Amino acid sequence: MKRSRSIVGVAVVVSSIVLVGAGVMAHRAIEQLSAAGDAVVRAKEIELDYVRLLSTIRDAETGQRGYLLTNDADYLAPYEAALRDLEERINTVTVHVRDDGGKVEDLIPLQNFLKRKLEELARTVQLNRAGQHDAAIAVVQSDEGRELMDDIRAFVGTRVREQQASVTNLQALQSNALSDSVRTSIVVSALAILLTMLLVYIVRRDSGKLRESENRLAITLRSIGDAVIATDERGVVTMTNPVAEKLTGWPRADAVGKPLDEVFRIVNEQTRVPVESPVAKVLREGGIVGLANHTVLIRRDAQETAIEDSGAPILDDSGHTTGVVLVFRDATTERASKKALHEADRRKDEFLATLAHELRNPLAPIRQAASTAAHRSATPEQVQWSLGVIQRQVAHMARLLDDLLDVSRITRGRLEVRPARVALKTIVDAAVEIAQPALNAGKHQLSVELPAEPVDLNVDALRIAQVFGNLLTNAAKYTQTGGQIRLVAERAEKDVLIRVIDNGIGLAADDLPRIFEMFTQVSASADRPNTGLGIGLALSRALVELHGGAIEAKSAGPGQGSEFIVRLALA
Ligand code: ADP
Repeated sequence: MKRSRSIVGVAVVVSSIVLVGAGVMAHRAIEQLSAAGDAVVRAKEIELDYVRLLSTIRDAETGQRGYLLTNDADYLAPYEAALRDLEERINTVTVHVRDDGGKVEDLIPLQNFLKRKLEELARTVQLNRAGQHDAAIAVVQSDEGRELMDDIRAFVGTRVREQQASVTNLQALQSNALSDSVRTSIVVSALAILLTMLLVYIVRRDSGKLRESENRLAITLRSIGDAVIATDERGVVTMTNPVAEKLTGWPRADAVGKPLDEVFRIVNEQTRVPVESPVAKVLREGGIVGLANHTVLIRRDAQETAIEDSGAPILDDSGHTTGVVLVFRDATTERASKKALHEADRRKDEFLATLAHELRNPLAPIRQAASTAAHRSATPEQVQWSLGVIQRQVAHMARLLDDLLDVSRITRGRLEVRPARVALKTIVDAAVEIAQPALNAGKHQLSVELPAEPVDLNVDALRIAQVFGNLLTNAAKYTQTGGQIRLVAERAEKDVLIRVIDNGIGLAADDLPRIFEMFTQVSASADRPNTGLGIGLALSRALVELHGGAIEAKSAGPGQGSEFIVRLALA
């Protein structure tokens, strides 16, 4: 497009130069034509002057001859008339010669000839009047008059020929000027036709290219994954693409011509305060601007979408802002995952605090027991008691550290299970043994209900026992003293469902989906001790899933007991 503009520019400059040249040439040709025309007129006039002069002097001579031959005074009338006219004729030719730029002095010989001729005529007329007819005839016959007349004729003849030659020259000049102007007008017309053809060609080609590039742009904008809205410099929508139509809820036909603020309504996610119009911001800052964070787009039907957006000025060739283009996209998923990341980070911090606490807790009884046992006056019973405390606390710490190691293995994908055929009863017995201290501590009653016929599983017995050990320990931990805890297993087609049911503090519906997440603990309250690391259930779910099983929690609500259901495939 730029190239064709420069072609047009060059064409215009060249043709302007040619046209100006042609104009100057035409002007000159016209001037020459008119000057030549004037000169021709003057030359013809001078030629005529000479011819008239000659005929006047001839008239005078004819009158004189008639008078001398006939002695009739009537013949003197044309003679005298000629004498009267002659002076005027001489004046006229003098003036015309001077006007034509000729030399008046050149006429002196003619004037002399005429003067002498007139004297000769006047002498003969006077002699005849005086009755000296013969003397007058003798003058005529002397040849003096004839010779003078020949001189006059020769002079006039020469001048007339000169004038005729100059007329011929002038006419040649005229015809040259005429053909020059004809040539000039042919060149000018041809140039005008060429220029018109060139312009028509370029305009056609450019409009074709423009249409093509507009089409391409429209297709590109339609195919783009982001939403695009363009406005003019007043912020009136000029274009939207399908993604923008979807996100704003405004079909393009409705949006175009509307102020942007109406189509693209954005508020701050937290404060709900309308965000500054992107057009104003772009026009003020002049460059590409990222718009405010935490922006929510309110659709035409009032539905809200979290968006990320940016705006940029649309500049024309000369760098003037002719509008603004906004590019934005649905940031719901992105914002949710950012939030989740933030939440996980917060939970990890919380976990570290809990971990420090949990690891320090056993140290106080251990220190106490050790000093009791080490005392000189310690009785054997006291030493025995101290050893028991130390063993229990060390076992507790070992369990914590084992769980931690498991967590780290799970997060690194390194936890391995070694499945083998094993009876469900074996696993349940091992789990009860793990949970026994907690069950005893809470003085709970445990009932185990297994299917009458033996059930075999293909699992890593230690790991699955660890899962049920966890569930039974939790049931014991989160149930008031003297609670009822049940472990019920039943077959369901190719699976076995094992439920751990308690009549403890229960769980709120909101907490049910969260408790299987790593480092998640339900906030502590009067009847909910916070004595774990928040990793037991996450570990249990990971272990169950490693065996291709599933785990879920149910509770009718706080104070209504809980139920954890594990589904595992039969061997
Ligand atoms: P913790 O180490 O805190 O016990 P878990 O991952 O084992 O961590 O459990 C997560 C949370 O789920 C606990 O903080 C607890 O509040 C809740 N919870 C687990 N089991 C029960 C249950 N049987 N009854 C009520 N709440 C429970």
